[in-house]
This record gives sequence, C-alpha cells and structure tokens, in this order.
Amino acid sequence: MLKINAHRLWDSLMEMAKVAPTEKGGNCRLALSMEDRAGRELFAGWCREAGMSVKVDRIGNLFACRPGLDPEALPVVMGSHLDTQPKGGRFDGIYGVLAGLEVVRRLNDDDIQTQKPLEIAVWTNEEGARFTPAMLGSAVFTGNLELAAGLACSDASGVSVAQALERSGYAGSEPLGRPFDAYFEAHIEQGPILEDNGVPVGVVTGGQAICWLDVQVDGIPAHAGTTPMPLRKDALFGVAQMIAALEQLADDFAPKGLVTVGQLDIARSSRNTIPGKVNFTVDLRHHLDTQIDAMERTAREVLVSIAEQRGLNLTVSRHWFSPATPFDPACIQAVRTAVEGLGYDHQDIVSGAGHDAIHLARHCPTTMVFIPCVGGLSHNEAEMALPDDVAKGADVLLNAVWARAEHIAG
Ligand SMILES: [Zn+2]
Repeated sequence: MLKINAHRLWDSLMEMAKVAPTEKGGNCRLALSMEDRAGRELFAGWCREAGMSVKVDRIGNLFACRPGLDPEALPVVMGSHLDTQPKGGRFDGIYGVLAGLEVVRRLNDDDIQTQKPLEIAVWTNEEGARFTPAMLGSAVFTGNLELAAGLACSDASGVSVAQALERSGYAGSEPLGRPFDAYFEAHIEQGPILEDNGVPVGVVTGGQAICWLDVQVDGIPAHAGTTPMPLRKDALFGVAQMIAALEQLADDFAPKGLVTVGQLDIARSSRNTIPGKVNFTVDLRHHLDTQIDAMERTAREVLVSIAEQRGLNLTVSRHWFSPATPFDPACIQAVRTAVEGLGYDHQDIVSGAGHDAIHLARHCPTTMVFIPCVGGLSHNEAEMALPDDVAKGADVLLNAVWARAEHIAG
C-alpha cells in the first residue's frame, strides 16, 4: 500500500488557511468572493505545477485533470469545496480538495500513471452561506438544479451567481453533467462519533434521509389573570407537550433516529396573554427511508392526539424531504479494501451533514471517506483535525482511487 506525503499535505492545508484568515484561526472565503477566488487560484497553481490542466464549467465548478493511459476511459474524480462559512474552519471541504491534490502529487513522485484519468473537483458554493441553496455547484452539474435557476440565485446584497461568476473570473464554458467513472470525497466528519470511538477513518455508507415539518398550533389568546386554567386553549402548553413527545419519539427510533425542534415562534407574545398561536419546525433524520417514513407518521399521530386532547387546532405540512442516499457498494468496498490493507482502525458511518457527494451519488458511483475533527466541531473557526488523522484519511483515498483508476471494467 502506498502512503501519501503527510508533511506536504499538512503544509498545503496550512498554506491555504493563510488565504482570508479570521481572527480566531479560521477562514472566511464566501463562495465566488475575491477571497474564494484567491483560494482557487492558489489551488489551480499547485495543480498546474503537478502537471494538471484546469478547466471551469458554466456554474464555476473547477476541475483539475490528470490524463490516464486509456484515452477512452472516464475520469475517477476526487474533490470537495474551498468556500467556507463566514467564520469557517480550515478543513471543512478544503481537506477533500487538498487530499485529492496530494494523491496526484504522490503518484507523480513515483511516476505512477493510471489507466483512467484522475480529476479533482472544486464545487461552487457548497456552504450555502452566500447563496442558497447549499451544494449549488454540484446540484447544477448533476442536473438536480436547473442552470438558469442556479445562476439566478442572489446573495443578501442582490448580487446573482451569474454576476459573481463574471466578477470572480469563474464564468467557465465547460459542459455540465459529463459522465464520471466514480467520485470519492474525503471530508472531516463534522460530528463527534469517530473521535468518541477513537477511530481515525470512517467508511461512509451513505447519507441519511431528512424530513422537515412545519407545525402550526392554534388555541385562543386570552387574559392571563382572568381565565381559569380548565377553560384555556393555551397553544404553548400544548406545544410543550408535543416537543416532549417528539424527544420520546427519538428514543423510540434510537440510536439512528434524530429529532430536532430548532425554531419556535409565539405569535404576538406577551407575558400576560395566553399564547394563541405557536409555529415550530421539526427536523427528522434517519439513515433508512422506511424508518424516516415511520418517524414522520408517528410524529404526525402524536401531534394530532395531543392537539385533540387539548382542543387545539393543528396544521402539519412537509417543508422538505430528502430520501436516504446509499453510496455505491463497489466504491465503498474500494475504501474498505484500502483501509484494511493499510491496517488502520475504521468503522462504517452514515453522513449526518449534506455534501456534494450526495448530489454526485445520483450521477455516478460515489462514496466518501471521513476523518475525525476535534470535539466534533465544524462551521467554527476553531475547527481542527489532527495531522495523523489527516494523513490516514488521505492514505485511504489514495489507495481506493488508485485501485479504481486501474480497474478498467469499473
Ligand atoms: Zn464541507
């Protein structure tokens, strides 16, 4: 098994972190800003030095390309994103891009050529911090979002993606949606599971299903001092009981079921008025589609029953639904073979966060490699990954991608 040059990869990560640093050791490179441009230019320069050609597609996704021996073969693609949150970390996204570069550099060191071409993708606006939706570049590339709709998205000051592409010099002309042999994305976990288990590498088997509900509960607003308790229709006490029941629901689907009530709004709230209208959100997640369906059904039943007991009016609507995304068995096996061959501790894991790989999984055989991040912390300036884990994850990426790129039958 080949190993990457751990110092070179770490040095590149720290060099990239010098582009638009924040006070507390993070980065601010909002998508298609001049800072993002500077990060991309640094990366593109490194790719050219490594003998790769660089091209840009119509939504600004950047691809660095290393030819293969077989002129007919489709590329094996690595990658992630270089844009960050306003107070983002040094590893989220950047790791997957620079680990891809290190794979190419390491193959170059030994003059190793592959049958299939290799590419490194930098997807546009993964974070969703400047333009909504997140993962915009990979969504447009894979046809999950129309190009026109992607170009029309605008930031808080009214600048559209199309304008930002022009200004940053990344309005490319390469076609969207060309076929890939496979896509491998290395990423920090952005959660605490691997660290908690003391495991350096996560073999990612897919992305979990997500169901977002909007709930509105209507009671009767009335005077807090004159209305006896049995005669009230208090929307908030009803909602409190609903939220407690939703936490219980998570227990019933433990450990894979996740339930979050992240927003709650009491209409015209006042300390001496019985709340008459409350809106709240529910975020349900599970790694199986059958289970997310059961969670949604149970959640709705529980909410209805509490509303009926209390004589409250209830409206529940689905705001958004994203089914589970199983990754490709052959790609997962390539990662498993690599990590076992290297002798590193590892475990299977399902991605809790959204990633470009979730869109790519609907386009070509796809998987991901996770490494731990300290304290599970991400989208935070203090985000940190340990050098040893950084190296191990890239070793796994190298061997999985190399094996895939030699295997002509795919
Ligand atoms: Zn990311």
